[in-house]
Amino acid sequence: MKFSSFHTILQDSNRLFQALLLFGICTTGITWLIKEISGVILEHDRLAYSLCLAIVLGVLFLSYFKRFQLFARVCIFLFLSGYFVSLTIVNFFVTVNTGNVYALASVIHWLPILYVVSFLFLPSRTAVAASVTIYLAVLAMVVIGLFDLSNQVSNQIKALLYNVSVAHLFYLFCMLGVVQLKTEQRKHKIKAEEMERAAHIDGLLGIPNRRFLEKHLNRLHQEKASMVILLIDVDHFKLINDTYGHWIGDDVLRGVVECLQHNLRPGDTIGRWGGEEFLIVAQDTHLDKAAALAERLRDAVAEETFGSVVHVTVSIGVSEFCWNEQWDNVFHSVDKALYRAKSSGRNKVVISDLV
Ligand code: GH3
Ligand code: MG
Ligand code: MG
Repeated sequence: MKFSSFHTILQDSNRLFQALLLFGICTTGITWLIKEISGVILEHDRLAYSLCLAIVLGVLFLSYFKRFQLFARVCIFLFLSGYFVSLTIVNFFVTVNTGNVYALASVIHWLPILYVVSFLFLPSRTAVAASVTIYLAVLAMVVIGLFDLSNQVSNQIKALLYNVSVAHLFYLFCMLGVVQLKTEQRKHKIKAEEMERAAHIDGLLGIPNRRFLEKHLNRLHQEKASMVILLIDVDHFKLINDTYGHWIGDDVLRGVVECLQHNLRPGDTIGRWGGEEFLIVAQDTHLDKAAALAERLRDAVAEETFGSVVHVTVSIGVSEFCWNEQWDNVFHSVDKALYRAKSSGRNKVVISDLV
């Protein structure tokens, strides 16, 4: 089972990132077109629009490659911050020199978009560092304006700058709250995945438990997959416990599982069905091949010495599981086959007569 990491989160939000880039491309393109049609376009505007479209298209292209996704985000953040910060600085001086508050006001309300972009698309720590840097730049501008060394700044502009410094601080705190929520959400996701994993693993033997096996079988059944199931029971296991004690009994169970796993094929699944019973699901195989596998497993266990002194054997029932068969019927038949293996002397493999 997979655990969450920044890369999976990156993957989850990549569609949103790409959608925003497309939105940006469309709005920039439309604005450019409107300006061209109405004849108000300036030569440097034309250059800026084409440069902007080229950069965003390039970033969009990069975002389709997994290993360039983070790079694409950093690029777009640097591009936007370069654009908005330089525009703000230019308009700040225009405002100070001309007293026209609109020049600064028209651009300053766009700056918080940088906080949003960084917190949405950059790793949390980088986003905090980038946003604080942007805020410090804003604050520097505010300080220059408020101290007004050249005595050129009107009270209106000072009020605007003061307002901006407080509003931006407020945005910054809101975005830090978002980071906190994102971190919490990630922790919960990891915890939920761990709990899901624990709910499907047997605590003693570390293999899938019955809950997992049932889900697995249902899934394969729905996918109409063909498979063979092997029900394995350790012979006279109670005697092992009675003779050597439960601790050794546990060790023997671990040894039996290891031995079975060692002899399985890569696609086969083994799980603990109950006490000293195991179920193996062998996919894409036929009954004769699965019977040979069962013989190999029975033989391997019988040959092994567990806990340096204990010899055990296993009895195995084998049944084919066709997708159009009722699960109850199949399980009943494999159980019957196992029962026949037991009653005919144990250490045996019996094929179900369901087919
Ligand atoms: P049979 O050949 O008919 O299967 O005989 P058996 O003794 O193996 O079967 P029985 O059902 O009588 O006993 C199974 C025993 O397995 C009883 C139970 O205490 C033991 N057992 C079940 N789970 C564990 C476990 O996790 N650890 C240990 N040590 N023993 C277990
Ligand atoms: Mg049993
Ligand atoms: Mg048994």
